[in-house]
Amino acid sequence: MRDKKNMRGKNENNDKKDQKDTRVEEVRPGIYAYIQEDGGWFLDNAGFIVGENDAIVIDSLSNAVKTNNFINEIKKITDNPLSFLINTHHHTDHIWTNYLFSSKTICSERCREETLKEKDVGLDIYKKIFQGLDTTGAKILPQDITFDKELRIHQEISDGTREIRLRYIGPAHTVDDAFVYLPEEKVVFCGDLLFSEPCTPFALMGSIYGSIVALDYLANLNADFYIPGHGPVAGKESLYRARDYFVYIRDEAYERFKDGIDPYTAAKSIDLGEYSSWNEKERVIGNVVRAYSEFKGEPIGAELPDLFNVLARMMDYRKEIG
Ligand SMILES: [Zn+2]
Repeated sequence: MRDKKNMRGKNENNDKKDQKDTRVEEVRPGIYAYIQEDGGWFLDNAGFIVGENDAIVIDSLSNAVKTNNFINEIKKITDNPLSFLINTHHHTDHIWTNYLFSSKTICSERCREETLKEKDVGLDIYKKIFQGLDTTGAKILPQDITFDKELRIHQEISDGTREIRLRYIGPAHTVDDAFVYLPEEKVVFCGDLLFSEPCTPFALMGSIYGSIVALDYLANLNADFYIPGHGPVAGKESLYRARDYFVYIRDEAYERFKDGIDPYTAAKSIDLGEYSSWNEKERVIGNVVRAYSEFKGEPIGAELPDLFNVLARMMDYRKEIG
């Protein structure tokens, strides 16, 4: 491995806003998380896994400035070619700049389907809803390789082979989330199956039920490091915190659903209590809308016809609550 790790560290060129609050964390030898503070909207984490002859990247970022900065950080650590880029799910902040990597791209079968839909949707609707969103150089490149339930990559390392498992276990944060599990090193790149505290979890495009199942599943892997899609690198307790949030919101929403209260009124009336200090509190609206879909007996992960309207109302609520 052409290792240049002595050059790594917190980004020193802080002159550009997009590069200011990023850092590389080596959680195990050769296994790196790329963290974007503060994990808010479109500030997703990524990662890379350096082998003897290659490096495998997990997720691209929401615009070309951010992704070029990420690629520069990888190059400070290794000259190895980037063999594969894994997309954990189809959300724009994780796929919008895939094309900046020369690697073959991999994702779950459902993720590619959703990515193709996203290509039709385009960028403008997001720029309208998320005011100030920088989409410089963003464009959608559908993935090259897909898998149904699991795919294993066997990466050569200096003293043997590293096993990297990509696994899809059903709708959760979206309908197509995969996570990346390194059983030997006990590391999981969770994608957005995990928003670690203080980032509020979000399941509007997936399933509340499925999110709880997925968080239990990840906890049962007994990993030492869980790299979330948003928020700081976490341990198991962070999975339980996110799970508790979903259970609390689901139960509060159900009381209101039974009383015939509409989901928006219901969401706004929920006392977030211990979760009120978390970021992106407005996500309670999206989570309650998804919970209502499940209470009505709609299929897990059912497509919501008014999805962008829900997102817009959620961002209005963000302004309302400051
Ligand atoms: Zn996401």
